[in-house]
Amino acid sequence: MRGFYSGMNQDDFVTHMKQVRKEEEKNGTPMFMGIPDHWFEKLKWRCRNGHISGMILKSEVAGDLCLKCGERVMMTFPEDSEG
Ligand SMILES: [Zn+2]
Repeated sequence: MRGFYSGMNQDDFVTHMKQVRKEEEKNGTPMFMGIPDHWFEKLKWRCRNGHISGMILKSEVAGDLCLKCGERVMMTFPEDSEG
């Protein structure tokens, strides 16, 4: 898996995440707000620079931000890892 996402831009990643969620849905995984339940057990976020973290900076103005670089983050699946 190392480096699998490193060549992806944010749009590619968003498309990929939609695909992953669709797969989960097809497999009958319980979902909440379009996100598989088990993702919430171990929350993880990914920013456009590829940083993965269990912690984010909550900003009223800018939304959820990466602690390392300040870019916007989106929730990712629990197995996602940096690199
Ligand atoms: Zn970052």
